[in-house]
Amino acid sequence: MERHDFIEAPACAGVLNFRSSRAASRRRAGESNDRQGEDHLNNVIIIGSGCAGLTAAIYAGRANLKPVVIDGFEPGGQLSLTTMVENYPGFPDGILGPDLIENMRKQAQRFGAEFKSGAITDVDLSKPPFKITAGNDTYESRALIIAAGATARLMGLESERKLIGYGVSTCATCDGYFFRGKDIAVVGGGDSAMEEANFLSRFASKVYLVHRRKEFRASKIMVDRARANEKIQFVTPVVVEDISDVTKGGVEDMTLRNTETNQTSKLPVEGVFIAIGHVPNTKVFHGKLDMDENGYLITHHGSQTKVPGVFAAGDVQDHHYKQAVTAAGSGCMAAMDAEKFLEAHPDR
Ligand SMILES: Cc1cc2nc3c(=O)[nH]c(=O)nc-3n(C[C@H](O)[C@H](O)[C@H](O)COP(=O)(O)OP(=O)(O)OC[C@H]3O[C@@H](n4cnc5c(N)ncnc54)[C@H](O)[C@@H]3O)c2cc1C
Repeated sequence: MERHDFIEAPACAGVLNFRSSRAASRRRAGESNDRQGEDHLNNVIIIGSGCAGLTAAIYAGRANLKPVVIDGFEPGGQLSLTTMVENYPGFPDGILGPDLIENMRKQAQRFGAEFKSGAITDVDLSKPPFKITAGNDTYESRALIIAAGATARLMGLESERKLIGYGVSTCATCDGYFFRGKDIAVVGGGDSAMEEANFLSRFASKVYLVHRRKEFRASKIMVDRARANEKIQFVTPVVVEDISDVTKGGVEDMTLRNTETNQTSKLPVEGVFIAIGHVPNTKVFHGKLDMDENGYLITHHGSQTKVPGVFAAGDVQDHHYKQAVTAAGSGCMAAMDAEKFLEAHPDR
């Protein structure tokens, strides 16, 4: 199937006609199709500076599009929260998450990407150019790449946040390997908690499945599979009150409170995996772009959203793989799609 079958929205026909004649005279004068800087118009704005946004910035930069990247509240994205990344290709000894991100950022800057602080608070995608608001700042752009990622739900404990990357993880695929031969816990009661517990049992000596209720949201088949796994032990109905030891910079145990008896107990573990879901950062796009029932953006033909010229990449449109390398790969796709789109629509 043809990947770049973009359709112009009829609502913008008037603007397009005006711009067409302007572009035609520019073309006659032999000018380039790069309209960056014209009336503060950007070629492409990239929302988010995680692996997806930074890879998109590298590709868009090398395509001479002078991309502008809006950092959001978490410059560098999720990888900036972690320590060692061992599964990103090209680093046989692993690389620290913040170092990997810093390398990508420098690489993007080398090709002309410009970084802006601030988080997007509103977007107008009804007609080109798109209007993007970040607090008091507004931007106009011919194309938009949304790489706003997803945020892992946490339990809300201070110790949990402080120990992320130091024994607390939100990603079994990423960090399971570090817990070979260790006792660990998985917190959650849905399908992903069951799946992560099963996956982690390949490495860990024991996996405690910690859940606040005796019943599970997970499908019966997933619960049965976890129950049949000799390494997995269910611990219910308990809530996690604390994870220690922050002062030692590692996980030693969890304090659990039984919700029926109110009694507290300590569970010695060396790792805690939080598997209570992710929230895609798509609030500003509600009603403007198609989303699934959990708020993830829906893309088709690669990275296209339903609005021509708006592309999405990384975890913001991927609830399944959620890896640095897949996010980077889709960032590349979005930049290439945006480049082709701009080439095909010089008048926007
Ligand atoms: C603790 C941890 C460890 C991990 N370890 C690994 C690992 O070892 N290997 C691996 O492959 N994967 C790992 N992952 C997963 C990996 O980090 C993600 O899959 C990847 O970061 C997704 O990249 P992204 O660019 O799509 O989104 P994110 O990294 O989530 O980046 C999103 C970006 O969007 C910005 N943003 C959000 N909202 C707005 C807004 N309104 N306006 C402007 N900007 C906004 C944020 O500030 C951020 O810069 C880990 C994740 C975590 C949390």
